[in-house]
Amino acid sequence: MTTQTRSASSRKAPATSKALQQKILHHLHTTQGTYPEKASALAWWEATAAAINEFVMAGLTDTQKTHSRYDTRAVNYLSMEFLMGRLLSNNLHNLHLFETTDKALAALGQNLTDILEQEPDMALGNGGLGRLAACFLDSLATLNYPAVGYGIHYEHGLFEQHFRNGRQIERPDDWREYGNPWEVCRPESVQQIKLYGYVETVYEDGRARKVWHPGRNIKAVPWDIPVVGYNGANVNILRLWESRATDFFDWDVFNAGGYVDAQIEQAEAEAISKVLYPNDETEAGKELRLIQQYFFSAASLADIVRRYQRAHGDDWTQFPKLVAIQLNDTHPAVAIPELMRILIDDKDMDWNHAWQLCHQVFSYTNHTLLPEALEKWDLHLFEKVLPRHLELIYEINHHFLTEEVEQKWPGDDGVKSRLSIIEEGARRMVRMGHLSVIGSHRVNGVAEVHSELVKSDLFPDFHALWPHKLTNVTNGITPRRWLKACNPRLAELIDRHASKDWPVRLDKLQKLTDLADDARFQNAFMKIKHENKEELADVIKALTGIEVDPGAIFDIQIKRLHEYKRQHLNLLHILALYRRLLENPDHDMVPRVFIFGAKAAPGYRLAKDIIFAINKVADRINNDERVGGKLKVVMLPNYRVSLAEKMIPAADVSEQISTAGKEASGTGNMKLALNGALTIGTLDGANIEIAEEAGEDNVFIFGLTVDEVKALNSRGYNPYDYYLNDAELKAVVDWLDTDYFTPGQPGALSSIKHSLLDGGDPFLVLADFRSYAEAQLKVDARYRDRKAWARSAIINTATMGKFNSDRSIQDYVDRIWKLKPYPRDNA
Ligand SMILES: *Cc1c(COP(=O)(O)O)cnc(C)c1O
Repeated sequence: MTTQTRSASSRKAPATSKALQQKILHHLHTTQGTYPEKASALAWWEATAAAINEFVMAGLTDTQKTHSRYDTRAVNYLSMEFLMGRLLSNNLHNLHLFETTDKALAALGQNLTDILEQEPDMALGNGGLGRLAACFLDSLATLNYPAVGYGIHYEHGLFEQHFRNGRQIERPDDWREYGNPWEVCRPESVQQIKLYGYVETVYEDGRARKVWHPGRNIKAVPWDIPVVGYNGANVNILRLWESRATDFFDWDVFNAGGYVDAQIEQAEAEAISKVLYPNDETEAGKELRLIQQYFFSAASLADIVRRYQRAHGDDWTQFPKLVAIQLNDTHPAVAIPELMRILIDDKDMDWNHAWQLCHQVFSYTNHTLLPEALEKWDLHLFEKVLPRHLELIYEINHHFLTEEVEQKWPGDDGVKSRLSIIEEGARRMVRMGHLSVIGSHRVNGVAEVHSELVKSDLFPDFHALWPHKLTNVTNGITPRRWLKACNPRLAELIDRHASKDWPVRLDKLQKLTDLADDARFQNAFMKIKHENKEELADVIKALTGIEVDPGAIFDIQIKRLHEYKRQHLNLLHILALYRRLLENPDHDMVPRVFIFGAKAAPGYRLAKDIIFAINKVADRINNDERVGGKLKVVMLPNYRVSLAEKMIPAADVSEQISTAGKEASGTGNMKLALNGALTIGTLDGANIEIAEEAGEDNVFIFGLTVDEVKALNSRGYNPYDYYLNDAELKAVVDWLDTDYFTPGQPGALSSIKHSLLDGGDPFLVLADFRSYAEAQLKVDARYRDRKAWARSAIINTATMGKFNSDRSIQDYVDRIWKLKPYPRDNA
């Protein structure tokens, strides 16, 4: 283990396959209590993970010693979601142990690929926001930055999705039903979290002090997941908090016959980390959700303060020099008044000093402009759960309005009510976005266009007040998971033709542009794409029974199901193609397979109806001989990280068709383009930057721009204008009202038509339909020219270097966190 590598370019495996074979056998015997002839595939997975953990834990120890020896400044990344996926393959790649382990297992009569399939996804997130947090942890560790991820140890992650008669069914996700080999419990770092109760003002030495008498105490138990950097660099931790009933047990109540009540209290305490809320983008103001937010924010802050005080005691001068705290969306915004509470109530600090520290450590990432996603809490609910924090928020607000706002706009009550943390009205609300902006020294959006809209539309007054606070950090993805691990054939081709350090220097893919017109390279590139499509065809067959032709265009839309992402625009176009084929069986089109993957929030009716419609249309088309194999539609169940890893390498076309101005960045768009898919998309989020990098010729841009969307909406958008003036569009929308796709059940798909017409079509599906259909014709034409397609695909892969999450992290470091890298000692 002392031979672990340190330099970014070194690629030596830290063990021989013989040694690894011994370790795996050892763990099969001693950790799993079984032996090769009897062991299940799951036991082999556990034993392999345990063997690899020897390297992981050694790296973790070295890293922690290094960080404490140098008293390093660290970023604490607070996120309610971490969508980690599987860890074994990623850890093997990052430790350069993949081939070695493959060999070791082969010698033991086992197949690594099959064993990797045993691992449940760690799905502690909904979609893009949680996956971004996971990519950031990978990059932070790879770049040797001291960092801790803080989140919630959900017992049940994002639900498992099944289809029954085409409809989505949810089942609980049980990722740790049989334990999890990666996590380490840290009882020595347990925290006590307070909730409810009341605040008392006591007077001491002529000074008023606030004492919070909580109504409940909850125990927060930390579980650490090691995060291995590429090249076995730093091993950081992701610390996830589990809620438990506190040990402060009321024995009197218990003995007085309160056994059952005590059990109920325990169940209530454990409910806090029981389940991830399954809504992407929105979450209604549920009490348990607020408690989740406070629970993990307070536990994380207590942990940060404990670690700081271990080295610095009551000397707070170093605090802002050593601590950076990033709020991933407003979900952990309550950390701001919580730090004020700790400093003022527990550490006896005065207001100005506390605010000075607070404001220097926090920064906030905005992820959405969707009005329904901007968090607000009912003031009375907030007061009930966190009475002391509401007082602190009032005081923060008072200082802000009477000092900063009054100075800038004297006597202007309009701007005060716009900027106040408290929204006045029939129900008074606490605006978590405003709290986050006021309490942070930097606020970033996640793509250029999004950050501009944050300044101009979401927080224009804040931008006027603090012109340097709002900034941009365009999202990124880790090329280790999203190319090297998931697309080994392409990774190997790149190794041979670009430089071998592309996994840490993704800009070096640029070299491939020189080969974009090289016929041999084109053939090699497209052969790999074809092989990946054959593999995905097998997965499709296994999961759905549907046979697809790898010679067809694989056109993929994978992301959460949401109206703004417009899976129904894709569906309308599929119906148009189907109709053209029925009207003219000789209709000339390149055979195409449309492949979807998407979960809908369980309470989002229209999203679930769209899934149902896709499944019903797929049934009808896939079984209609008249289309002559030119059209297939597949909706894969249970879309998640591990399924994305199988779909992305096989994509020819990447569907990124959100209404302009609605998708903050997107990261699926980056994963697909990096793997050589051509984007068909709107000028939204990071699509704009992808088009800039790849060149407009190598993407298919369509639809209204942000400005055109605004203009159309302010003119007054009427979907009937489009519906009545486009015969094909009218025909396919009307088709949804018949029982053509749901025999005997007319109206089963009508909700979609209704939303597009009488519902006002809020996401401008009809307005963009014709432009989308025309762009799809260009896709078809480009694909017929095999060389032109190969060229575009290669250029897409070659030019995605910007979207390495290492670049995003370096931007955060330069613009916000100001960290220094610390390669671990002994490495
Ligand atoms: C990358 C990813 C997402 C985000 O996809 P978008 O297209 O950016 O919305 C969602 N879910 C999973 C499983 C992912 O891997």
